[in-house]
Amino acid sequence: MSPPIPAPDVFPNKSPVPAEQSGSNRPKLGVYKFASCDGCQLALLSVENHLRQLADSVEICYFLEASSRIVPGPYDIGIVEGSVTTAHDAERIRGIRRDCRYLIAIGACATAGGIQALRNWANVEEYLSYVYAEPQYIDTLATSTAISEHVPVDFELRGCPIEPQQLLRVISDLLVDRQPRLARHSVCVECKLRQNVCVAVARGIPCLGPITQAGCGAICPSFDRECFGCFGPQENINAASWIGHCRSTDHATSRLVQLLRNVNSYDSHFREAGDGLIAKSISVEPS
Ligand code: SF4
Ligand code: SF4
Repeated sequence: MSPPIPAPDVFPNKSPVPAEQSGSNRPKLGVYKFASCDGCQLALLSVENHLRQLADSVEICYFLEASSRIVPGPYDIGIVEGSVTTAHDAERIRGIRRDCRYLIAIGACATAGGIQALRNWANVEEYLSYVYAEPQYIDTLATSTAISEHVPVDFELRGCPIEPQQLLRVISDLLVDRQPRLARHSVCVECKLRQNVCVAVARGIPCLGPITQAGCGAICPSFDRECFGCFGPQENINAASWIGHCRSTDHATSRLVQLLRNVNSYDSHFREAGDGLIAKSISVEPS
């Protein structure tokens, strides 16, 4: 996780700016897509009631998912969805970093490489031959990596997709020179606040909630499903304890690795936990 954005002097002219004020006086915002499913951009667009407020507070200069209107940079805030999977991506993100005063990476793709990072353990040439009839035309890197592996990122917002209210809060914090802060406790806390019956205790299902950062509102356990770790590892993750508990209840290594190798598989904490499990097992049981 990148260090929090320094609070003072984010924008010299305080926002929100009155709606009638000219667009050119508002802080400029760009929203960029890299390798992703667009779900996090759509999550931002889904906050219908607040979109007008957002558009009144910032000038949306580049957001191709929403509009073909482009106002040239530089921008005050850049929001990036998606991971870096091509040499062109790697070059492009460096240009975006130069163009944006603050850069926010949103979603599991941008903060951990996304589900497409599963290729990082595989032979990408082999994958290409499975998927494309003419793989020689595909120009791709062997890996899918987070934005922060290529350029400095000022803030990372987890989730698959992100929780849009969190993004609005981070933007509004920036606009009033306040340091963005997000909950750092685990999904278990949200789960207990919703008074859910714990699927791990009641049904013996391995659940990533104890080592996953809060933010989703414990959606899956609320529907009697285990947590799949969409918000990535919690701060001060104790993966060894989670693994120890799951192993004590006879869960197969392959099931635990499956859970860890999901949308945040290439986050360093989940990656180390999954790799460690595989290294310790003589052979991983078939799923
Ligand atoms: S993090 Fe999830 S929802 Fe967001 S772009 Fe990636 S795959 Fe889609
Ligand atoms: S169901 Fe999962 S998230 Fe909820 S309390 Fe149990 S372990 Fe934690």
